[in-house]
Amino acid sequence: MTLILPHIERLTPYALGDLPPEGSAAIKLNQNESPYPPSPLVLEALRTLGEEELRRYPDARCAQLRAALSRLHGVKDEQIFCGNGSSEIISLIVKGFIGPNRRMALPDPSFSLYHTVAASYQASSIAIPTRCDYTVDTELLTNSGADAIVLVNPNAPTGHLLPLEEVERLVSRFPGLVVIDEAYIDFADPGATAIPLVDRYPNVIVVRTFSKAYALCGARVGYCIAAEPLIAALEKSKDIYNINAISRKLAVAALEDRDYTARTVAALKATRDSFIVELRSLGFDVIPSQTNFVLCTPPAGAGKPDARQWYRKLLERNIYVRHFEHPRLADKLRISIGTDDEMAAVTAVLRGLLA
Ligand SMILES: *Cc1c(COP(=O)(O)O)cnc(C)c1O
Repeated sequence: MTLILPHIERLTPYALGDLPPEGSAAIKLNQNESPYPPSPLVLEALRTLGEEELRRYPDARCAQLRAALSRLHGVKDEQIFCGNGSSEIISLIVKGFIGPNRRMALPDPSFSLYHTVAASYQASSIAIPTRCDYTVDTELLTNSGADAIVLVNPNAPTGHLLPLEEVERLVSRFPGLVVIDEAYIDFADPGATAIPLVDRYPNVIVVRTFSKAYALCGARVGYCIAAEPLIAALEKSKDIYNINAISRKLAVAALEDRDYTARTVAALKATRDSFIVELRSLGFDVIPSQTNFVLCTPPAGAGKPDARQWYRKLLERNIYVRHFEHPRLADKLRISIGTDDEMAAVTAVLRGLLA
């Protein structure tokens, strides 16, 4: 007798790539984490954690965090759902709104976790190719015949942003659910968020995370904004205490320090833009990025290393970046933006290896 359901047996787990050992001094530019610490207010909240907060169950409705988020985004508390990282929200969306034998379309390449999650709920996922320049073809998505569409915007791992007008056109013409994963929106041009669409379109869910711009990957907090019926459905299907007391307190503290977030995001964008200039001067082709990473193609030519070899050479020097086996990504590297010092170290290694 087999104990494991066939669709779980068949599942290909989400690939994380090579990871440095915990506590290593590697330059880690492979998971799009923030190179800066969380706000001092977050660290203060952690230090002043009370006995009571550990002894009691946390509020199942997550009222404090939802209230802070509703103020930030100008929506109602009832339009917000908080989760144990946006990964949990992605799972709950697929579980509650897509499910067995229904189809979810997403651009390709994009965040492959969506394919894994679809398979784990027996939903199918359809990869809709992006254009040659990796821009998203909304026409193909709209006509995909799928029950739901997922747009990672800005997209990962390409860094490309679909303008809000195009997002709205897609949302208004597609009758099914449209999930817009805005994990990287804080690093994009202002005004690109689809949150304003939520009041006008009942079929939109905007997913956000504290992992990237707030430097809280380890705390695992995400949220989504949608019309009230969708939020109520997510509330019903979640684990009762899906966000622990510590993490939600840290997320509330992070929201209080708007200046700090703005400063660190601005610093990251400046580092990104100068790193792109450096890469191009070394002959790398770089897709314009609206995120905290760049997708780049090393210079081709006889005797020059290909992307896989570059990946190995960087790894040998304790620099972790990302290489994907996907046919449209195999000649590229995705490099997260670190501090100025880290990017200078990467640039120096690249320059040295090219010489
Ligand atoms: C990093 C990332 C997330 C965030 O995941 P968390 O579970 O909130 O840490 C979500 N979507 C995409 C596309 C990402 O790259």
